[in-house]
Order: sequence, then structure tokens, then C-alpha cells
Amino acid sequence: METQRPDQELTWSWGHRPRSALDGAKAMAPPPPPPLAASTPLLHGEFGSFPARSSRFALTLTPQALHIQRLRPKPEARPRGGLVPLAEVSGCCTLRSRSPSDAAAAYFCIYTYPQGRRGGRRRAARTFRVDGAATYEENRAEAQRWATALMCLLRGLPLPGDGEITPELLPKPPRLLLLVNPLGGRGLAWQWCKTHVLPMISEAGLSFNLIQTERQNHARELVQGLRLSEWDGIVTVSGDGLLFEVLNGFLDRPDWEEAVKTPVGILPCGSGNALAGAVNQHGGFEPALGVDLLLNCSLLLCRGGSRPLDLMSVTLASGSRCLSFLSVAWGFVSDVDIQSERFRALGSARFTLGTVLGLATLHTYRGRLSYLPATVEPTSPTPARGLPRAKSELTLAPAPAPAPPVAHSPLHRSVSDLPLPLPQPALTSPGSPEPLPILSLNGGGPELAGDWGGAGDAPLSPDPPLPSPPSSPKAALLSPITEGVPETLASSGLPPPTPGSPGAVSTRGPHDHLLPPLGTPLPPGWVTLEGDFVLMLAISPSHLGADLVAAPHARFDDGLVHLCWVRGGISRAALLRLFLAMERGSHFSLGCPQLGYAAARAFRLEPLTPRGVLTVDGEQVEYGPLQAQMHPGLGTLLTGPPGCPRREP
Ligand code: ADP
Ligand code: MG
Repeated sequence: METQRPDQELTWSWGHRPRSALDGAKAMAPPPPPPLAASTPLLHGEFGSFPARSSRFALTLTPQALHIQRLRPKPEARPRGGLVPLAEVSGCCTLRSRSPSDAAAAYFCIYTYPQGRRGGRRRAARTFRVDGAATYEENRAEAQRWATALMCLLRGLPLPGDGEITPELLPKPPRLLLLVNPLGGRGLAWQWCKTHVLPMISEAGLSFNLIQTERQNHARELVQGLRLSEWDGIVTVSGDGLLFEVLNGFLDRPDWEEAVKTPVGILPCGSGNALAGAVNQHGGFEPALGVDLLLNCSLLLCRGGSRPLDLMSVTLASGSRCLSFLSVAWGFVSDVDIQSERFRALGSARFTLGTVLGLATLHTYRGRLSYLPATVEPTSPTPARGLPRAKSELTLAPAPAPAPPVAHSPLHRSVSDLPLPLPQPALTSPGSPEPLPILSLNGGGPELAGDWGGAGDAPLSPDPPLPSPPSSPKAALLSPITEGVPETLASSGLPPPTPGSPGAVSTRGPHDHLLPPLGTPLPPGWVTLEGDFVLMLAISPSHLGADLVAAPHARFDDGLVHLCWVRGGISRAALLRLFLAMERGSHFSLGCPQLGYAAARAFRLEPLTPRGVLTVDGEQVEYGPLQAQMHPGLGTLLTGPPGCPRREP
């Protein structure tokens, strides 16, 4: 499976304001120095350690890793844990001993999250004693040199070729607004945030403010009133639904065009964590679920770095509009999504159970799918040309990609009001919008006090592994494939979505120059398919779920809607095989004749079956014809740096 090319540049890294404000300055700046080879030694030194005071280590810092070699008691024949990839480091700080007998030494501590034997990550702090010089000042300067160099590498900031490496190289801490849905996923979002997210981003020296959402649409309302220039990023801690609210909250603002560029990030604590799955893959990590996915995404967030994010503007039958960063789904996918709401307590396993139940009561839906292929040069729509018929159904190969502190707005329930079980005392982050939670510097033990950087201490507890997807098609009793929406959905007690409800809609938004009004004919160059469908999925990023790679070649900013559909006539076993293969993104190589794919710039979906379920980014919207246009790079996604490419599946 392909990930981003490692040479792809990030739009910006922590410490650099994105776009507008700094674009001009960036254009005039000298070109950045060529990247260093991964193995180039940048710093080398010999240090003591803490708490094992008798040990000594040789450390070498390269652009991608810290190499740790034990010198005393004796060099290890097979050093364990000797290579710390920076991808597993959240941050670094310097410390000082409280003991008068150790007054001349300085310490630096590195916070790492290595993978254990079973694959799960565990926090480990490594503390080194800088004692080569006679005075504390000299030793502290050396400790700060190491900590600064590490932080610069982590955040993608250039190190001076020949100048001093001092803390002044680091810009003031990025300011994040965290929006936490305490009911996200299995209702563990707040717990996971306290035990995993907050300690890590504090270690990384990020400044944050936190708000717990209290109801549906709360996040949407909040972002409408924010002074966005105060924040380097808005990060949702929940599933995909909360980010959907944030992006559509931007759309409600008079300054929506600027607002929608605000960098947004996602820390997966929901049951549907599709975007986080794509971020995880982009960052070069192995597929992960649960706390492991959360830790990976948190590590990436700490590093900084963003990419433009394609956003689909979706127009519904009533004329209302919303922005989608993820998907528009009809048929099997949306049925499973909404039907499995009642199994929310299972976390992401609700989709597995929903899939099994959905297979048992498989439905087909009659409809018409029209799209503007990505390969066709777009023309502005002209009315009254008649509906073009499908030339041919496209084959499965994805098409190539086209080319200073301000006064703060009052915030509802900020983190400083919340009882965080974080240890005492010592840091406030300079430049923080609000005082930061008080955190102790950790890793060095109680004898050490911090003098620079950020840290937190919350021991990580492994999360129970999530149930895996069904391994056998025998998992459910099967009934005949029928047409139309399942009764359970129609009578599920769900209120029909209305404008202003969670399937949130707006009248503002980008101009959809490729789309004529709904109900009027499409311009030339469009392709139309009509018939019976089991599902239709229009997806923007690669992932439909944390472990479902629906469009393996998709990128955040490829400017494409990836249309996937499954025609009626597929057997349940074949459909199950498709979903199982989708975990590795290999479903297109199964040769399933009912599976279709097209890369498009815009599409229109006209359901002909009178009842059914439509979702946008997993949120139910009004049922009826809809259409959407992709707006390349309209948003900005905090992704962290791209990882190394992985092998094709
Ligand atoms: P999940 O993947 O678990 O469904 P989402 O992020 O998709 O997580 O959130 C589900 C829904 O919860 C969103 O539509 C959001 O509006 C809603 N929501 C957010 N905060 C609250 C809250 N405090 N109580 C109830 N619903 C909430
Ligand atoms: Mg895309």
C-alpha cells in the first residue's frame, strides 16, 4: 500500500503560521538547505544516566533517531532499546537535581513511546546526566543544546549549520484548542484524553486549551464564535463526527473562506476513526486501533506539520449544504453505520457487528449515479442539454492524481477548570492562551526539577484489544436479498434529519462551478450509471474506517472524489470478502465484477428507491437526490510528517 512520498514537503510545521499571513514572507525566504542524510551524525556526547547513576552512555543524534550505546557497566553485546526513532519521541526537557551534592550536573529527559513485544506502545522516559563540565551553567547549556536539537528535529525546524544550538531557536509553543466529546466511542474519550493525550502533548511542549462538548452541535456552535487567529490548530478528540461539526461550524461563519483554512487535527477516540486511520498511514505507522491508534496520532500531532485537505461541498435535496472531509455513503455502508449506532458501547467493533447483521439482511437500491470523471477537462455546466447516458462503466484502476498574543475569547469550560489527575507541580507554557495544567517533570524522579521544556507523567495502561472483524461468512443467518431500506432502519426511532440537526447543513460555502442545480440536466462529459446498487461510496481520503482502506491510492490533497460502488447481484460471501480485503486495501484486486470505481471531481446521486439512508461523514442526512463537488485543498489537516513508504499489499 502506498503512503505519501517521503520527499513531499509539509505545508508548514509547528512554529510557522500557515498560509495567508506568512505566505509572502515564505516566498521571499532563501531556499531551505538540502535535507541531511538520515544517518548524518548531528550531535555526539557521553553522559551519565538517571536513576541508574553508575551507567554511562554514548549518544549520537541523527536526523531520524537517537542512538544510545551503553559504555558502562560494559557495552551490551546486543544493545536493547539502543535506537530511538524520532517517530516514537513526543518531546524532551531539561532538568536539575535538587540534591546539593549533585548541584553541578544538568539532565535532559526524552519521552519515548516504543512498541512493546505485542505491538502496543508504552511510555518510557530516558534521562541523561550532563556532567562533563565543572559548573552547572556549562552543563545546562549542553543539556539545552541536546534538548533543543531534538525538539527542532521533531518539529521539522532547521538546525543552524555552524551556529549555536540554543533554546531561542524554538518558536513559542503552538496553541491548540482541544475539543473532547466525552461520549465518543465507548465513552472513553475523556478518560483516554486524560491518561494518554494530555500528558503527551504537555511533554511535547504544546500549549493547549480544552473544552468538553456537552451536546450535539456544541462544537459547531463553539467554532462559530472563536477568534481563530489565536489558535494554531483545532483538534477534535472523538470520532469523525466531531470534526464534521467543526468544519461545518466554519461554514456558518461570515469569514468561512478564511476560517475553513484553520488547521484541524483529529485524535481518535470515537467508534468511527476513518480520518485518523488515514493520518496514521500517512505518518508511516502500521495500521492500528484503539489506544495504539490514538498514541500514533498523538505522536504525529506533537511533531506538527500539515497538508492541504480536500473538502467536498455536498448539496442536499432541500438545497442545504455541508462540507465533507470523508465520505458520502448510500446503501450498505450507510445502513451499517446508522444501524450500528445502537451498539455504540462496542466502540469500533460496532461496525463489525453491523456488517454481519447488514449481510444477513442485504438490500439493493435502485438509483442513478452520475459523475464528472477526473480525466475529463471540467466545463461549466450549461442548462438543458439532456441527460448523458453512460458510455461504459469504468474499470477499477484508480485514475492518476491531477495534478503575538491576542486577547482571548471567553471559552466554555477550559482545561484549567477541569479536575485533571495530573501530578504536581511545575510548568506553565510561555505563550499559552490560558494557563496550562500544572505538570511535573517526569522521568528523572522526584529529585529532579525542570528548568526548560514541558513534561507530564501519566503511566500508560494498555487498552484491551478490540474485537477483530468477522472471520467467517457463517457468522450470521442469512435471509433473501431484498430491495429498499431495512425495516429496522425505517423504524429505528431515529428522527429524520432536518436542516440544522446533526447531519448539519448550511447555506454558505464554496461555489460549486462544476454543478448545475439539482434537478437540472448535467453538462457534457459526465458519465451516468443506472441500476441496482448494494452500495455507493464517495470517499475523499483513503480510509473508510480506522482499519478499512476503501481508496488505497487516495491522498488528502489529490483533489479527487473516489467513487466506489457495488452493483446488485453480488453474493453475501463476495461482499464479505470485499470488506475483509478492504482491511488491507486489496479489494480491487479480487476481480469482483460488481465492484466499480471511478475517480471524479463531482458527482450526483439520485436514489430511485423511495426509502433509504444517506450519510455524509457518517452523519445521517436527508434522503433524496444529492450532489457534491470536490474542492481541492480547501481545508488544512494536521498530519505530522509523512512516514516512509510501505510496501504494496
Ligand atoms: P463516534 O465515532 O463515537 O460516533 P463522533 O465524533 O462521531 O464519535 O461523535 C458522535 C456524535 O456525538 C457527534 O455527532 C456529536 O455531535 C455528538 N456529541 C458531541 N458531544 C456530545 C455530548 N456531550 N453528548 C452527546 N452527543 C455529543
Ligand atoms: Mg482526496
